[in-house]
Amino acid sequence: MFLPKIDEQKCKQCGECVDVCPADVLAIEGDTTVVTAPQECLGCESCISVCPEDAITVEEI
Ligand code: SF4
Ligand code: SF4
Repeated sequence: MFLPKIDEQKCKQCGECVDVCPADVLAIEGDTTVVTAPQECLGCESCISVCPEDAITVEEI
C-alpha cells in the first residue's frame, strides 16, 4: 500500500495533482488539498511529478 501526504505549508491548491491522479485519491476541499482515498493510491507518483511546490510525498507502507 501507498500513503500520499500533502504538506499544507507548501501546497497552493493549484489542483494539478487532483487532475493527474488516475485513481481519484486527491481532492481540493475548501482551501486545502486533501487525501480522500489513500487506499486507492497506486504509487504511480504522477502527483509528485506535476506538483510545482514539491508538496507531495508518497510513502510505501
Ligand atoms: S501516487 Fe499516483 S495514484 Fe497515488 S495519489 Fe499520486 S497520482 Fe494518485
Ligand atoms: S499539485 Fe502540489 S501545490 Fe498543487 S494542489 Fe497538488 S499538492 Fe498542492
